[in-house]
Amino acid sequence: MFGLFGNKKQDHTATINNGEATITVKAGDNLLKAALEAGLAWPHDCRVGSCGTCKCVIKKGKIKALTDFSYVLDGEQLKAGTALACQTALKTDIEVDVEMGEALATQLLELEGKISQVNELTHDIKELVVKCDTSFKREMMAGQYAEISVKDISAPRSYSFAKAPRNEKDDEFSFYIRKVPGGEFTEWLFAENRVGTEIKLGAPYGQFYHRPLNTQMVCMAGGSGMSAIKAILEECVLEQVERNCIFLFGAQEERDLYCDEDMQRIKQQWHKDYKFEYVTVLSANKEGSSWTGPTGYVTDYFKQAYMDTSTFDLKDAQGYLCGPPPMIDSAIELLKSGGIDEDSIYYDKFLDASSIPGGR
Ligand SMILES: Cc1cc2nc3c(=O)[nH]c(=O)nc-3n(C[C@H](O)[C@H](O)[C@H](O)COP(=O)(O)OP(=O)(O)OC[C@H]3O[C@@H](n4cnc5c(N)ncnc54)[C@H](O)[C@@H]3O)c2cc1C
Repeated sequence: MFGLFGNKKQDHTATINNGEATITVKAGDNLLKAALEAGLAWPHDCRVGSCGTCKCVIKKGKIKALTDFSYVLDGEQLKAGTALACQTALKTDIEVDVEMGEALATQLLELEGKISQVNELTHDIKELVVKCDTSFKREMMAGQYAEISVKDISAPRSYSFAKAPRNEKDDEFSFYIRKVPGGEFTEWLFAENRVGTEIKLGAPYGQFYHRPLNTQMVCMAGGSGMSAIKAILEECVLEQVERNCIFLFGAQEERDLYCDEDMQRIKQQWHKDYKFEYVTVLSANKEGSSWTGPTGYVTDYFKQAYMDTSTFDLKDAQGYLCGPPPMIDSAIELLKSGGIDEDSIYYDKFLDASSIPGGR
């Protein structure tokens, strides 16, 4: 139903880690999709061939690379038979090795429903609410994402849950979607009132979610990256986590700010013995505006105001980052330079066709 890559003729099997599991990869599906549908904890993030998280080694059998692996894998990895599972179709039965890591093993849901609301959040971000035809058991984690398919759009798109699953109604999902100029789905969504449009939704995907710990956490988001961070923070409130947290939201101008009330509520409901701080930073504040808050890039601001002044100790902290890839890349470098362990930095990059090897 959600096969991205056209129909292949035959189903094949993939035997994983010397027979730990054997799965069927249906004609037209990719290896990662089949593994996740089988409930395996196969590591993955972007699912569009960009992040490399789903890499595996093909030991036996023939595959078809759906995009060029060499954008992500180096020569040695390619020589060793490394492949990106999300971009791998099978030509024959295969044997494959993968490090399962700490990925979540959740059963994928394939749901149908309708767009029930489209609400304006900023001039270029809308909240999309999908009402599913049936209620379902929520096995997803705050921070994960869904794959959305609409009949008129050529391929599914990924969108992060904008609320902690426990804060949603039993049959609803909310997403924050930014209009991407020239983007097929978002131009369609913004062009007219789409309430009532039928939608298919696959979920949950991704490894971006809260890892409970008592150390400090720093969150950074830009644009519609607010969605996944907000969902995680809501989950932290529901769990009453015992940790301090700072969330820096980067926007260009005041008109790009939203969710202020949600952030105030999170602040009020945060565990009373710990601190939650929310800071908005504008990178393209117009001269003459009434804005008196911080300006510049969110990363530069965090460095100057918190790291250089030792106001925030990154040792043993965790980082949670979500939004545009350049912001995330510089935030990762910054947090690492401040002493935060790379394994303690979790992120979701909102990649689109312009950043996918070979386009969509
Ligand atoms: C894990 C994940 C979670 C995400 N969560 C969110 C979210 O919560 N909110 C959100 O707003 N977005 C999110 N995204 C991004 C989202 O999935 C879409 O990619 C985005 O909305 C753009 O979709 P589109 O169909 O409008 O644009 P696309 O059609 O994908 O086009 C995007 C841009 O690329 C250009 N383009 C198209 N084809 C090519 C090509 N071949 N070569 C170069 N450029 C090309 C287009 O002109 C356009 O400017 C997420 C992405 C990922 C991977």
